[in-house]
Amino acid sequence: MPIDGSLMASAMAGLAFVGCAMGSIAPTPDTRPKRREVVVNGRRVKTIDVHAHCIVPKAAAVIGHPLEAPGLMMDDTSVRLAAMDAQGIDVEALSINPFWYRAERDAAAELIKIQNETLVEFCAASPDRFVAFATASLQYPELAAEQVEYAVKKLGFKGVGVGGSVAGEELANPRFHPFWKKCEELGVLVFMHPLGTRELEPSGRLDGSGLLTNTIGNPLETTIALSHLIFEGTLDRFPGLKICASHGGGFLPSYANRSDAVTRTFPNRVGPLPKKAPTAYLRDGQLFFDTIVFTPEALRHLIAETGSGQIMVGTDYPFPWTSTEVDLVMNTPGLTDDERIAILGGTAARLLGIPT
Ligand SMILES: [Zn+2]
Repeated sequence: MPIDGSLMASAMAGLAFVGCAMGSIAPTPDTRPKRREVVVNGRRVKTIDVHAHCIVPKAAAVIGHPLEAPGLMMDDTSVRLAAMDAQGIDVEALSINPFWYRAERDAAAELIKIQNETLVEFCAASPDRFVAFATASLQYPELAAEQVEYAVKKLGFKGVGVGGSVAGEELANPRFHPFWKKCEELGVLVFMHPLGTRELEPSGRLDGSGLLTNTIGNPLETTIALSHLIFEGTLDRFPGLKICASHGGGFLPSYANRSDAVTRTFPNRVGPLPKKAPTAYLRDGQLFFDTIVFTPEALRHLIAETGSGQIMVGTDYPFPWTSTEVDLVMNTPGLTDDERIAILGGTAARLLGIPT
């Protein structure tokens, strides 16, 4: 989110006061593992994780949503901070997977208000370690546009999170244009996180071994969402939009050239052509991608398709998909120091207004 300066200042003042008041008490020994400080060519780099989950229990309670995993809670952040310290993550940009897209309007409005205000409190408690993406009830696009405007102008957020679809509707559906228009106008970074391919699940094709609803269901959802945003002209209509796709953009960057090829192979069957070759949208500044692709070779290829300026670190905390994203960036071949610094935190800092 980035909270605004005054909130940060008051939070810092509060921390300083507590520090002074406790000056006469013997300090308890700090048993936490040492914080890993990431250095590139002698320069300390602020690392930012754009893919980190949390939950706000009192917002979830509005519609009786379960709390999913204990690691999502923010009431005691000591375990989370220890994990960040061990992994060399300085700042997490918190997001909440949208579980409210089927909620009624009044409940959704109440839920989002509580949720965004509480996210501000989470961040104000540790302003040097947490920022957050605002939440919005996209099933009511005009309301969602108002929510993101309030979140940015009144609460100080710099980004907003969305799912890969909204209760079965594509993000490229024109009914969401008011929301995209507002995001473009406000210049917020949109973090897109899939919730599986729910519409495929009743078919049973993702049943069986392999947790396929997640393993391939999540990246498939992202692949479908991004492809529609390109081919339905959404990215053309809102050229200032900035969307960060989870899990390295799903499968799209791995096979992006097929999207160009179809425009040559079946030009009469693809519908109105987007203004650019589909692959151009991966690298022209509207789409960003996290690093959750697991190997240096996979990250090297992702960067070859998108450019290093479109990539930001993601860990998926508290879900233990990876704990070595800093090493992944450091070990990916062919990057300059400046490119590594940008991926580790420079790009996220610029987009989310985080001081470096
Ligand atoms: Zn995730």
